[in-house]
Amino acid sequence: MGGNRSDAAPLTFTYVDLIQAMDNATDWVRANDIQPAGLPTSYDATPPSNIDVIVIDRQYGNAEDPFCDQAWATSGTSGGIMGLTTCNSINSSNQCQSADVRYNNNWTFDVGTSAERHLACHENGHAIGLKHPVSSAEMFGQGCMNFGTGEVNYTSHDRGHIAAAF
Ligand SMILES: [Zn+2]
Repeated sequence: MGGNRSDAAPLTFTYVDLIQAMDNATDWVRANDIQPAGLPTSYDATPPSNIDVIVIDRQYGNAEDPFCDQAWATSGTSGGIMGLTTCNSINSSNQCQSADVRYNNNWTFDVGTSAERHLACHENGHAIGLKHPVSSAEMFGQGCMNFGTGEVNYTSHDRGHIAAAF
């Protein structure tokens, strides 16, 4: 395991002024992907100091917000980065104490519900420690961690990792 996986279950989320579509997409992924894999989640609008996942969305990459100097998408069809998940603090066991999930609204404004769920599934997957498939040919299948598939679920392999981690 490792990666960005948060260190606690239940996993407490807070959302920082998400647009309604991404609020909905994140709720959907918690209810339909993360919790059924065996990891309970909760939401706290006033995050405690030990918050696990902070979900943020902005129009990253615009001139006034070149966050981390990444190659952010500027529209739904421009190419570039649609989301980013980082660990912002690590505990004494080198597990992620708290992850930041960021959605790029330059992209989300232009896509539909299924794509929004695909992005939320992928980025929150990183927050719980999932990585990209190493190759498309491997046994792990597709699923939302293979970005671009449009899938909105984790593979059975991914779900096994989630269940084993807590
Ligand atoms: Zn990724």
